Amino acid sequence: MQLGGIHHVTAVTTEAAANVAFYTQALGMRLVKKTVNQDDTSAYHLFYGDELGNPGTEVTFFDWPQFRIAPNHPGAGEVSETVLRVPDRAALDWWTRRFTDIGVDHGDIEDHDGRPTLPFTDPEGQRLRLLADGEDGVPSGTPWDGSDVPRESGITGLGAVELTVRELEPTAWVLTEALGFLRMDGRAEDGGRVAVFEVGPGGPGAEVQVVERPDAPDAHLGRGGVHHVAFRAPDDEEHAAWGKKLRAHGLGATPVIDRFYFRSIYFREPGGILFEIATDGPGFATDEDAEHLGERLSLPPFLEDRRAEIEAGLKPVPSGRSAATS
Ligand code: ZN
Repeated sequence: MQLGGIHHVTAVTTEAAANVAFYTQALGMRLVKKTVNQDDTSAYHLFYGDELGNPGTEVTFFDWPQFRIAPNHPGAGEVSETVLRVPDRAALDWWTRRFTDIGVDHGDIEDHDGRPTLPFTDPEGQRLRLLADGEDGVPSGTPWDGSDVPRESGITGLGAVELTVRELEPTAWVLTEALGFLRMDGRAEDGGRVAVFEVGPGGPGAEVQVVERPDAPDAHLGRGGVHHVAFRAPDDEEHAAWGKKLRAHGLGATPVIDRFYFRSIYFREPGGILFEIATDGPGFATDEDAEHLGERLSLPPFLEDRRAEIEAGLKPVPSGRSAATS
C-alpha cells in the first residue's frame, strides 16, 4: 500500500472572482469545477488543475466571506508554501518575465535541492513557487490550452508542499511511520534545516518539505493561507485501508466522506496541519462533459434539489473560459 503523491492543496480566498481571474488568466490553470463547500454551501469550492483536473494537478479554494476571515497569519502548524511544476528552466525564465509584466509579486530564480525554482505570491499573499521538474517524478498533467500561457511553459501539476512546524520529529514520524514516506537528505535554508520526505514514485509531485521553527508563533488560517493538503490513494480498497492504518497509529481519522469527485478521509498530524487522503477517482468528468468543465455550478446529487437556494446565496463568478478569453 503506497500513496501516489500529492492529490490536491486546498486554500482560502475571500475574493472568488479575482481568484478565478488570477488562477485561470495569470497562471493558465483550468477552472475544472465550480462547486460549493459541502460543509458550508454558502461558500464556493473552486478547483483549478490541468486540462482535466487530474489528481496531482489541483489547487482548490474555499471562498469565505471577507468580514469573518482575516489575512492568514503565518507560523507553525500550516502548509507554508505550495510548489507547482513546470517542465524546465526556460519555463521559469518565461514566468519571470510574465510576472514582471502583469505585476505578480515574485522573487528570483533560486536552487532547491538541485532544481531551479521561482517563488511568487497570488494577490491575497498565497505563498507559491514554480519548480522546474526536469519532467521527473510523478507523471505530470497536461496544461489547459484555454489561456495565453504557452503549453511548453504551462503549469503541469503540484510539485511539493512545504510544512512549517515547531517540532520536526512528531510530523516526521507521521510521514514515515504512518504514511510510508522516505526521509531524504534535506537542505540548509536560512540557517536551519529543511527536512525532505518523498513517497511512492518520489521526486516532484511526491515530496513534502518540513521546516522546523521552534520559536514560531501559531499559524492562524485566513485568506491567502492553506486549509489542508491531500495525498493520493489509487482506489477505494486502499483508501479504506488507510483509514484503518491511521487509526492503528492513534491518529483520529474521519470516516470515509464521499466528496463525489473523490472520496476523502481527514486527520490532523501532530504539528497541527490537516491532512487528507483522497482517491484518484472518479474525477471531475463524472458530472460534466470534459469540454465544459467548470462552466456552471456543479452540485453533487445530494445537494441538487437545493440548487435554487444555494445559487441564490452565491456571488456570480466568471467561468474560467470566458474569463480567459474575454
Ligand atoms: Zn481536500
